[in-house]
Amino acid sequence: MKAFAMLKIGEAGWIEKDVPACGPMDAICRPLAVAVCTSDIHTVYEGAIGERSNLILGHECCAVVTEVGSLVKDFKAGDRVLVPAITPDWNSLEAQGGYAMHSGGMLAGWKFSNIKDGVFAEYFHVNDADGNLAYLPDSINTVNACMLSDMVPTGFHGAELADVQFGDTVLVVGIGPVGLMSVAGASLRGASRIIAVGTRPACVEAAKKYGATDFISYKNGSIEEQTLKLTSGKGVDCVIIAGGDEDTFTSAVKCVKPGGKIGSVNYLGGADFVKIPRVEWGVGMGHKMINGGLMPGGRLRMEKLGSLVASGRVDVSHLCTHVFEGWDSLTEAVRLMKEKPVDLIKAIVKISEN
Ligand code: NDP
Ligand code: ZN
Repeated sequence: MKAFAMLKIGEAGWIEKDVPACGPMDAICRPLAVAVCTSDIHTVYEGAIGERSNLILGHECCAVVTEVGSLVKDFKAGDRVLVPAITPDWNSLEAQGGYAMHSGGMLAGWKFSNIKDGVFAEYFHVNDADGNLAYLPDSINTVNACMLSDMVPTGFHGAELADVQFGDTVLVVGIGPVGLMSVAGASLRGASRIIAVGTRPACVEAAKKYGATDFISYKNGSIEEQTLKLTSGKGVDCVIIAGGDEDTFTSAVKCVKPGGKIGSVNYLGGADFVKIPRVEWGVGMGHKMINGGLMPGGRLRMEKLGSLVASGRVDVSHLCTHVFEGWDSLTEAVRLMKEKPVDLIKAIVKISEN
């Protein structure tokens, strides 16, 4: 089969690979539409998870099932499905402990385009099909459905990690597609004020639609100075980090009130250490919680978030700025996600209607 792969750090391209084999609990699927993630870019062009050779990229798609294993109960060939980016082993001890995304080791629930081939191929393999696939609601088109693999669950996880409560003032650092879904998630959880950090005009416009009330640019001075000014020196209840770099943690600690929470879903591609400012962290006693996490995957979350999108309470179409048709346009979609032109939020490629 034809597949788009990381060839080595800094290089990606088309390769030929065998169609994956289906184990007893697994499914083989064919993509209906795929989307490129900023994480694919970190992986290939920054080498953020190390060297990989001929690893098929991609972890955002919706698909049709072409084959299931003998022990799969709830899915059959022909079913149209949502596919989460994170596909844990649900019988693992980590899953029993509540951290399925780390089943088999830290971050090991993130299998596609990390520890096994991803979805940018004519066919791909899904482990634990009953635990990880979800039916694609008829009312969600295939382009919007791709946003349910990663953007919605990851952005919302930022709001979960920051533990947004009714009435909170929330700072969302980074309003790419992930941060935009953090804005939407914080809004749904009852934030009274959402301060968004980001400059791309398309993202700023979308953030307004998702509930951001104030904007600051990290290019116009420090995030902490601008945030403290906007909040009369008080700071914010929660910070969601969905962009920036290692230094963003320093700013977040300075922005959050004592007792406040910082939730990060950012994928740090660069330096070795994250610096926490000692004084603003209450010299170690400020009750400023920092929580960074890979989003939970799996079927239940996909079904619930799918319902939220199907009900119209979250309109993911604002994210889908660049839609292409056919595998041949995937190279262009990857290039756009790497270069991030000002009008881009997300690049999606439609492969097939059925
Ligand atoms: P984008 O690159 O589209 O957006 C990044 C945002 O951060 C933009 O708004 C950008 O602003 C802003 N930004 C850039 N530099 C700074 C800075 N120095 N300080 C503050 N803000 C800054 O990324 P995505 O939304 O696609 O993804 C966000 C992150 O989430 C990525 O690191 C991605 O890999 C990660 N991720 C994590 C997952 C998880 O499970 N934890 C899953 C999926 C993605 P501007 O508008 O100026 O460009
Ligand atoms: Zn991703």
